[in-house]
Amino acid sequence: MTTVKEQKFEAMAVKRETYQLIINGVRQDSVNGETYKVYNPATGEEVATVAKASKEDAELAVQAARNAFDFGKWRHFPVNKRSRTLNKIASIMRSRFNELVELEILDTGKSLAAAQGQVMQAIEDFEFYAGAIVSHRGAVNSMPGAFQNITEKEPVGVCAQIIPWNYPMMMAAWKIAPAIAVGCSVVVKPASLTPLSAILLGEICIEAGVPEGVVNVIPGSGSVVGNYLVEHDKVDKVAFTGSTPIGKDIMARASQTLKRVTLELGGKSPSIVFEDADVDAAVAGSLFGIFYNTGQSCEARSRLYVHEDVYDEFMEKFVAKTKQLKLGNPFEKDTHVGAVISQDQMDVIDGYVKSAVADGAQVLTGGKAANLEGYENGYWYEPTIIADTDHSMKAVKEEIFGPVVVVMKFKDEKEAVKLANDSEYGLGSAIWTKDYGRATRVSKLIQAGIVMINCPFSAFPGTPFGGYKQSGFGRELSIETLDLYTETKSIVSYYGSRPLNPFNV
Ligand code: NAP
Ligand code: MG
Repeated sequence: MTTVKEQKFEAMAVKRETYQLIINGVRQDSVNGETYKVYNPATGEEVATVAKASKEDAELAVQAARNAFDFGKWRHFPVNKRSRTLNKIASIMRSRFNELVELEILDTGKSLAAAQGQVMQAIEDFEFYAGAIVSHRGAVNSMPGAFQNITEKEPVGVCAQIIPWNYPMMMAAWKIAPAIAVGCSVVVKPASLTPLSAILLGEICIEAGVPEGVVNVIPGSGSVVGNYLVEHDKVDKVAFTGSTPIGKDIMARASQTLKRVTLELGGKSPSIVFEDADVDAAVAGSLFGIFYNTGQSCEARSRLYVHEDVYDEFMEKFVAKTKQLKLGNPFEKDTHVGAVISQDQMDVIDGYVKSAVADGAQVLTGGKAANLEGYENGYWYEPTIIADTDHSMKAVKEEIFGPVVVVMKFKDEKEAVKLANDSEYGLGSAIWTKDYGRATRVSKLIQAGIVMINCPFSAFPGTPFGGYKQSGFGRELSIETLDLYTETKSIVSYYGSRPLNPFNV
């Protein structure tokens, strides 16, 4: 086994037959030699064989991360050196952009345009944090008397970072970039279904000069490896993106060692189309809002509320345009909607659609698996619009996480806000109106971490991303994320000329 100390970490082809764990700066098999296969959800074809981490590997990864944090030099590098390394990671990613995009498509079945946007954003995340970290600092506070307080921001330590399958590359970047920017060490646990881009990102970090043990990547089962990391007493923080039930479980387990926890969880985000909206823009934005990434987005705008005065016009256009969306070859530039991640997820989606129908709702388009020539062994679901719904229905209350939107009418602003907030989630939201006052009013009343006004996009480096209510807490993608990877230390000193003697004895 060679380490980065002894030998330059050599880049390998992005696309290959096997992928190993990354522990302590070394590609390695799992301790017990176990592997598993990953498949392309668009075609059902095998993509690669991946080393499968066990608890033993997780232990090695935690030890490597701990060692790097406690005794290594990364956190003590001058900040400009860490910044330069993050920029180097970004530049290596840029130089392999097309290969990374190809691999992300094979691993997830998502469309070319979606994968390109997400890999590009992952690159920009590293560039953003390369800049942000340079000005991230503590404070000096004036105090009464001859006292001075220096407030330092110190890296929190070893971070377990648990990643979902819907945006594998982007979520890995959202987590790794700010953590290593401040000087933490990380153990990344990608989703079992989509581990490849996180492994590559780990390799690229080491190639760019991140010292051994700072970034470790260990694909393996969530309930085994994930749990092990969450309960480990040498792990200081858990950052998790995934479903709300697993997030609750993680928070409970992490409480035993009082780990710092940030959670990016599920959503059921509302989109409100007011009577004065630009209807065509609202239709276009709503299409993207739900069907982008095949609806497998935590901030998918999956509840659509349309004012009764424009309902008929909006729905006629919305249904017609939904029928025009192109599914199929993910590598074609004009494919709008890619595959669903797995058969299990297909069953979940179809179950929700059937429940809505059983509850009396109407499927206006879609509502079933899509049959695509040449893609019979993949997982495809038709973009689906369900109308005549209400808030008693399971399909309206719960997250579906697929290309399915439920639609309702409303009468006035007050009712729209009430309906939008009637959810246990609070991640994204959208408002379509030309009335600036209304947009401002409603955006203040909505209980969500993100409000999009006449806009279908929400995730930009520098813009805080995260939820209210049961969509989790903590923000990613922003300056404040850096604080969530640091501890605040108050150093209080006395600079008076007379020695202090508080007991006066
Ligand atoms: P998930 O089942 O919660 O899994 C997410 C990650 O957690 C995976 O890596 C999974 O590993 C791991 N995991 C599972 N059980 C665990 C446990 N007991 N302890 C520790 N880790 C565990 O969610 P998913 O099915 O991958 O993703 C879909 C969900 O993620 C949706 O509900 C969606 O809303 C949410 N999401 C939220 C955001 C956001 O920013 N708020 C972003 C993306 C996705 P395995 O793969 O091995 O099961
Ligand atoms: Mg899962």
